[in-house]
Amino acid sequence: MVVFMAQVELRNVSKSFGNRAVLRAVNLLLKKDEICVVVGPSGCGKTTLLRIVAGLELSFDGDVFINNQRATKMWPSKRNLSMVFQQVSLFDHLTGYQNMAYPLRGRRLKREAIQGRISQIAELLGITSVLSKRPPSMSGGERQRVAIGRSLARQPDCLLLDEPMASLDPHLRCELRNLLRDVHRTTNGSMLIVSHDDVDALQLGHHVAVMNDGFIQQHGKPVDIYQYPVNRFVASFFGRSGMSFLQGILDITDDGPQLLLDSGERFAAYGQVERGQRVEMGLRPEGILPAGLAPSSWASIHGSVEYRRPMGAQVEFKVNCDKSNALRVLLPISLLDSSPKEGERARFAFDPNRVVIFAADERGDRLEVRMTEATPTTLKLIDL
Ligand code: ATP
Repeated sequence: MVVFMAQVELRNVSKSFGNRAVLRAVNLLLKKDEICVVVGPSGCGKTTLLRIVAGLELSFDGDVFINNQRATKMWPSKRNLSMVFQQVSLFDHLTGYQNMAYPLRGRRLKREAIQGRISQIAELLGITSVLSKRPPSMSGGERQRVAIGRSLARQPDCLLLDEPMASLDPHLRCELRNLLRDVHRTTNGSMLIVSHDDVDALQLGHHVAVMNDGFIQQHGKPVDIYQYPVNRFVASFFGRSGMSFLQGILDITDDGPQLLLDSGERFAAYGQVERGQRVEMGLRPEGILPAGLAPSSWASIHGSVEYRRPMGAQVEFKVNCDKSNALRVLLPISLLDSSPKEGERARFAFDPNRVVIFAADERGDRLEVRMTEATPTTLKLIDL
């Protein structure tokens, strides 16, 4: 079976087009046999980053290392990395088999060796039946798999994938994610994937880098980023449903440090509490329950239900806490009947250990302020 393993490292990589900075001092490490997903909104610089790794973009500041060797100015053909582009580009006049065999031309491989390699990859990708078809008569998902198969056939040291799921419907996206996991399980290969969809990062990444505006905002394990986003942007972008934010102010009272929400609710606060600092309290919509259904150790706040919208397995609530602060709540649909109705005022509860507090300024950095005495690092990580 194909085995591809390379460690890829970007050190201090910056890139501008004219006077527009697209990558700003990016540091990234893809370890051998790891899947790293770089995720961020459209235009944040993901494709540019991947093109620099592939060697398709050679004019930039900083360095690229492949297996600890400086590869900054190395031509793409010398890197033995293979890139699957966002727009699948297969030769329409060739069959699936011929497309996959194309990069092996001139490699002095025996015909039987090529056949063996391609049939093994086709089996792994579930495309044996499309090897005889030409791309115009393949589905979008089949074309994408053939393109991945063509990249694997080269036996690269690392597979680079640019938004591989972008043009597929939700069902096919899910299938392709499973497939990439299978490919990784079978080959233990290194993969660098860029995507604007945080679900790809959550489901595929051993290691994830969240990008915005040319900066890597946070990198780490997806579960850590989900629980402890470093700033408001990461909190609202990453984690399937972004956090809800409630505005408030830190106070030091006779009862000790407190977080006073604009709605008037008060909670004890711990850590680096600075009196008078405006803050935002971040809550995951899927971590909120009607108070009557929540553990007694949870904290709660009052709100009026503006609407409830079924979304399949979940139901979405908009809960207004005051004139300008609202919570988004996502409950399992099975709890709908026992939940407050539209127009009702009720208490909604959340685990204070899961609350993240951000500075209410332009950067929105996470503060070392908590709603419990425990430090976040001592908390047990939840299973996604
Ligand atoms: P998407 O998810 O939409 O593909 P992205 O995060 O991959 O976006 P890039 O394609 O890296 O972003 O582009 C980042 C910025 O750089 C964009 O504003 C884009 O218009 C600009 N850009 C990319 N390539 C060039 C180029 N060759 N010349 C000028 N500007 C470019």
